[in-house]
Amino acid sequence: MAESNRITVARGDGIGPEIMDATLHILEAAQADLAIDEITIGEEMFLKGFTSGIEPSAWDVIRRNKVFLKAPITTPQGGGYKSLNVTVRKTLGLFANVRPCVSYHPYVATKHPVMDVVIIRENEEDTYAGIEHRQTDEVYQCLKLISRPGCERIVRYAFDYAVQNERKKVTCFSKDNIMKLTDGLFHKVFDEIAKEYPQIESEHWIVDIGAAKLADSPEQFDVVVMENLYGDILSDVAAQIAGSVGLAGSGNIGDGLAMFEAIHGSAPRRAGQNMANPSGLFLGAVMMLVYLGQAEAAARAHNAWKKTIEDGIHTYDIYTDAHSKEKVGTREFAAAVAARMGELPARLPAVSYKAADGSRTAYQLTRTRQKKELVGVDMFVHRPGISPDDLGAQLSALNTDGLKLTMISNRGTKVWPDGLPETFCTDHWRCRFKSQNGSMANADVVALLDRANSAGVDFIKTEHLYTFDGEEGFQRGQGE
Ligand code: NAD
Repeated sequence: MAESNRITVARGDGIGPEIMDATLHILEAAQADLAIDEITIGEEMFLKGFTSGIEPSAWDVIRRNKVFLKAPITTPQGGGYKSLNVTVRKTLGLFANVRPCVSYHPYVATKHPVMDVVIIRENEEDTYAGIEHRQTDEVYQCLKLISRPGCERIVRYAFDYAVQNERKKVTCFSKDNIMKLTDGLFHKVFDEIAKEYPQIESEHWIVDIGAAKLADSPEQFDVVVMENLYGDILSDVAAQIAGSVGLAGSGNIGDGLAMFEAIHGSAPRRAGQNMANPSGLFLGAVMMLVYLGQAEAAARAHNAWKKTIEDGIHTYDIYTDAHSKEKVGTREFAAAVAARMGELPARLPAVSYKAADGSRTAYQLTRTRQKKELVGVDMFVHRPGISPDDLGAQLSALNTDGLKLTMISNRGTKVWPDGLPETFCTDHWRCRFKSQNGSMANADVVALLDRANSAGVDFIKTEHLYTFDGEEGFQRGQGE
């Protein structure tokens, strides 16, 4: 259980201050036991020259208090500004992003009356490392990094979440039919860890058909775990089809630290008009109370909120003549929830929370070492206006007794030897040299690059080809 009731609060930008006021009003009415330190983050700090949107002293407050309730902030476009959300999640190691997406039929319009899905999104890895390079005139690259400890943490968290919250099934989405190593690892770790939780049903879907099913029949899903990018996209889809992005909160959980927020942004067009729905941030705050061990206050606040929704007291974003009774502003909505404190919803299921051990102990992660052998190198070459056969002939001249050009691909498709004339080629070639005697050393790569340099080859990067305990740690080219 978290040691303290002291939390850090940031009011954010746009609609942030209004929805934070509304949320804190409801928490106070629910008799949540909170001591608050407020920090300023976002636009004001970006404009003061802090390119990550936060001043150094605010980090100390966040790290000391360990629990952070954050309103949305505006990330200024361009100008080298980094997303503060991504920075906070990664700097503090908040590896799990938990996003419950629930429909409130018949009180909030939705095509999916039965929907109660929790998306658990990996929060630190994947293409969100932001490691991008332009390599040639025509080709840009974004690195997708997936680690075994990263997969183990998020998958284990998903199963533990399912057990603690009396969920029945955990589904994994991945694209391991294409990304056999990165998504393959995610899927493999999922299968390994699922075996440790025999009481929880487990299943895997390729993310494209899984996403289609989630959007079409969300009632088939319970807890869904996925990598960062898929989770980013699909949690917004899931929240929107449940009723509104304005209704979903999220928790970002790490080892001993956590941040709670709405899933939506700062909606600048609605700012300062007392219009925005505070429910997303509020439901994030309910997750925070559970995390803090304040289960009763969490349930009190959540049930009063459900009763308000059920009574048809709705902000503009969910107001419909058919489902609503009164259209209210942000402040009036918060007052309506506060006025219902202690009441239970009549038809929507009432919630109760166990005093959860929110601040979990860190997982033991696999950190084994395997026998790694260098067996080749992919040399990436920038070369416009050449045919694959001519490039193959030129680069074959670099062969030594030990290292031989075996394949050239362009955007992943093999074009040499025996390519097809129909394959479209850019100016970016992946040229695979493989050891002819089994293993090789870094010195062989250096010697190859030296010869390539002398021959005027414009190589732009290399990737080493390794085996791990004899298993290839690289994909073959399409058609290789
Ligand atoms: P947004 O989520 O802020 O708003 C999109 C639209 O959704 C709004 O125009 C509004 O119609 C509706 N909406 C969102 N929240 C609502 C609420 N509480 N009540 C009623 N309607 C609501 O997305 P955007 O316009 O693409 O982004 C605006 C800014 O927010 C950008 O600077 C973006 O970088 C930032 N952002 C911040 C966060 C965060 O702080 N966690 C998340 C996403 C986007």
